[in-house]
Amino acid sequence: MAKYEPVLLARIQKPNSHKLEGYRNDGGYSSFERAIKELKPEQVIDTVKNAGLRGRGGAGFPTGLKWTFLPKDHPGPIYLCVNADESEPCTYNNRILMEKDPHQVLEGVMLACYAIKSEKAFFYIRYEYGTAFRTLKAAIEELYAAGLLGRNIQGTGVNLDIVLHRGAAAYICGEETGLIESLEGKRAWPRIKPPFPAIEGAFRKPTIVNNVETLACVTHIMRKGVDWFKSLGVAPDPNNPRDAGSFGPKLYTIAGHVNEPKCVELPMGVTLRELIDKHGGGVWKGRKVKAANPGGLSMGFVTESELDIPLDFNGPGKVGCLGLGTAAITVIDDQTSMVDVLHNVCQFYAHESCGQCTPCREGTGWMLKITDRLRSGQGRREDLDILVEVADRIGIMPGTTICGLSDGAGWPVKTAIRKFRKEFEDAIRGGQPSPIRASLPVLA
Ligand code: NAD
Ligand code: SF4
Repeated sequence: MAKYEPVLLARIQKPNSHKLEGYRNDGGYSSFERAIKELKPEQVIDTVKNAGLRGRGGAGFPTGLKWTFLPKDHPGPIYLCVNADESEPCTYNNRILMEKDPHQVLEGVMLACYAIKSEKAFFYIRYEYGTAFRTLKAAIEELYAAGLLGRNIQGTGVNLDIVLHRGAAAYICGEETGLIESLEGKRAWPRIKPPFPAIEGAFRKPTIVNNVETLACVTHIMRKGVDWFKSLGVAPDPNNPRDAGSFGPKLYTIAGHVNEPKCVELPMGVTLRELIDKHGGGVWKGRKVKAANPGGLSMGFVTESELDIPLDFNGPGKVGCLGLGTAAITVIDDQTSMVDVLHNVCQFYAHESCGQCTPCREGTGWMLKITDRLRSGQGRREDLDILVEVADRIGIMPGTTICGLSDGAGWPVKTAIRKFRKEFEDAIRGGQPSPIRASLPVLA
């Protein structure tokens, strides 16, 4: 493949890449100015739809299609919520964008607001992201001072305000309806859907929730065009009429037991092996890969022999994982105990479950208790089947819970037991506490 020239990360090495002046000098906000002066909102929606942009927050839902779910001729207000509550373990692609090049994100926010006829965007940012919060705050102030936000922008009659809101420091605040509840000042308990936020969202008004990287892609689609976006990535699978393809650039974060953890931008469809070996500098200490998460913890685990899967919206599903998720790769080396890894994973979900739904609250607790038993050498023969059964039953897919957290808790358990069963059986037979602790990657 010819050398890929980054777009989303193109400016991050420049001095003062976060400032408005430099962004303007590089052509920034020209797409927004053109849109509000020359295009109808519907034309912006059509462009994003035609580009085939799918949400980068994890679910891969078609962005333009989501925008069309808003009620027609609604008197307003309509809101945009930017989901910057990036909390999936080892995921930090949004943070890089917000800290290093916030204006390309904000231009996407402004284009999206124009498209959906929203005069107010709520930018909900993860509490722990202090630097990104301060950078965005300064960037938004620059926009008001330059007359790019506020009333009657550049005499076009377009009004727009962006409200920056600092999150409540919990994983569940990133679930879109949990985010909305938290924004409204309540505990981030996800809502039952439908109604989806597009019909009834923030303050009970129609609301579109989009991820930070998705909105940055909107900026570049409006600047470089549909053909450019569709020239990158993976076309729809002709054998799958429901596949919408995986177009455009993507940010991948590489973490865990690699020599060079980093965030890289590549076209959709790069393989997991290339990411680890070429971009992550290979496995540390001369070791080999035992397992990896292909796109965030909630997607499950792949084995070394599955590393050649392409990381597009379809690839991870082909090896029994949930999906591409946040495209965050966590590498586990061959000296690390999967029993320990799974215990660490179960701790995370049991802690982050909001507790509203009994299957999720109790199920994540049971999975933690069982993995704790396995890790301390007290495992029972039946434990592995019970773990898989619990993981299978607590998901949103069988319809037992309100949100997808419980599904996400189940996939690492199911894939770890199915793919590394012998290691778990040996741990039970040996009855020894797991010997390896110190080298676990930090997952939460
Ligand atoms: P989802 O598939 O339920 O929804 C995706 C989006 O499409 C939502 O905005 C939803 O409102 C919209 N939508 C879907 N069907 C709709 C309909 N019929 N009408 C109107 N709108 C509709 O997925 P989700 O639960 O929002 O997200 C799950 C994903 O989140 C997981 O795959 C995971 O990868 C990801 N995730 C990301 C992070 C992170 O830090 N970025 C953290 C946890 C999970
Ligand atoms: Fe809360 Fe879990 Fe139910 Fe989601 S599935 S609403 S996290 S209890």
